[in-house]
Amino acid sequence: MSQSAAQSVKKIQAIRGMNDLLPGDSPRWQFFEAKVRQLMARYGFAEIRMPIVEQTALFARSIGEVTDIVEKEMYTFDDRNGDSLTLRPEGTAGCVRAAMQHGLLYNQTQRLWYQGPMFRHERPQKGRYRQFHQVGVETYGFDGPDIDAEVILLSARLWQELGLTDHVTLELNSLGSSDARAAYRETLVAYFERHIEVLDDDSKRRLTSNPLRILDSKNPAMVDVLGGAPQLIDHLDDESREHFERLKVMLDAAGIDYVINPRLVRGLDYYSRTVFEWTTDALGSQGTVCAGGRYDGLVEQLGGKPTPAVGFAMGIERLILLLDTLDLVPDEALFGCDVYLVPMDDASSPAALTLAEQLREALPELRLTLHCGGGSFKSRMKKADKSGATLALLLGENERREQAVTLKFLRDARDQQQLSQRELADALNTLLSNVADTP
Ligand code: ATP
Ligand code: MG
Repeated sequence: MSQSAAQSVKKIQAIRGMNDLLPGDSPRWQFFEAKVRQLMARYGFAEIRMPIVEQTALFARSIGEVTDIVEKEMYTFDDRNGDSLTLRPEGTAGCVRAAMQHGLLYNQTQRLWYQGPMFRHERPQKGRYRQFHQVGVETYGFDGPDIDAEVILLSARLWQELGLTDHVTLELNSLGSSDARAAYRETLVAYFERHIEVLDDDSKRRLTSNPLRILDSKNPAMVDVLGGAPQLIDHLDDESREHFERLKVMLDAAGIDYVINPRLVRGLDYYSRTVFEWTTDALGSQGTVCAGGRYDGLVEQLGGKPTPAVGFAMGIERLILLLDTLDLVPDEALFGCDVYLVPMDDASSPAALTLAEQLREALPELRLTLHCGGGSFKSRMKKADKSGATLALLLGENERREQAVTLKFLRDARDQQQLSQRELADALNTLLSNVADTP
């Protein structure tokens, strides 16, 4: 390609709202993901992985035709056969589909979790992206409210593990049964019709399609009319009220604080009874970090047998932002290297390679980077510093002759030492407190 042609080619960029996860950031994600994986095992939840693309009808039928997601946020396209497919905007629908398809709901209960990318065509901003990532939990076959409490406790323990407990608030509501909700819907519509002059256009449209969502409106001009609206929580059926009362008793007993938010209705159609959100005020308007609830009607709605279900999903980007804002990721999780091994000249490279392998063999937990690519001694030491390692090991002609290495402390002012290669593994094991005991 000629130079002028190269200049005229526009460099291809990532799609707006879809982010690369760069090496400087991946340790934060790995730190978070390791906590999640460990937590799920502690609570007896099994991982499930679903495809990222599903038939469009799955989402339209489960999330609801008149929701923000289905109306305007889905990435939908025709594949080469002419089938309408959609990049998943959330995980619950695909999880139910998979569980039904593989008979996981037949005469058994399930506690499942997943994580991965979701896609919504929204306006990108801090904490809101077009490809984002969720960790989700779904349980099937439990009437509750014990399982409602269990999944809330699981999320609460994650906050505790991450140091977030004091920075998040649990909001709780009950949407009742679908019958109770239908009756309430009429009461609500009648109320809004009496105040039609203060409703904005969106709300007027929702009056016929999805009046409960009007309660979700953030329009300041509607604060009074929303404040005076009849509340679903006062119109619950007896069973749902009892369910909610028992859940509160369990959360109280477990010492979990919560705020009842009667306007919490959630953006998806499939919820019933318990709904909850964990919110923070440290992230501006993208403050919901985890949201979920009970969706007893969904399995049947998708053609299965009636199956009680509870789940939640958390936004990983928002949680990582929160951890960063509060500086809660420990340093040792941020740096991927304990020891940087430097051959002092090219002739020492073979010996350095061998020594690196011996150390990896002896200390499986050790994170060791071998200097490759030559360069002056000064530039080698610069790389050692940049690696984040606490220790550098230097191997030159003298060291080779004496079967030794020179140990340099990169992060404190201790004098360098000469160690024999035979004793090196033991010495490193003692020096690096984060290197687990190895036999
Ligand atoms: P919001 O009200 O912020 O739009 P939502 O109700 O649409 O959230 P859910 O469908 O309940 O969100 O998804 C669960 C969680 O996933 C949210 O609480 C949030 O943490 C995260 N999330 C949702 N949409 C996005 C997005 N576009 N970018 C980043 N995270 C998101
Ligand atoms: Mg949304």
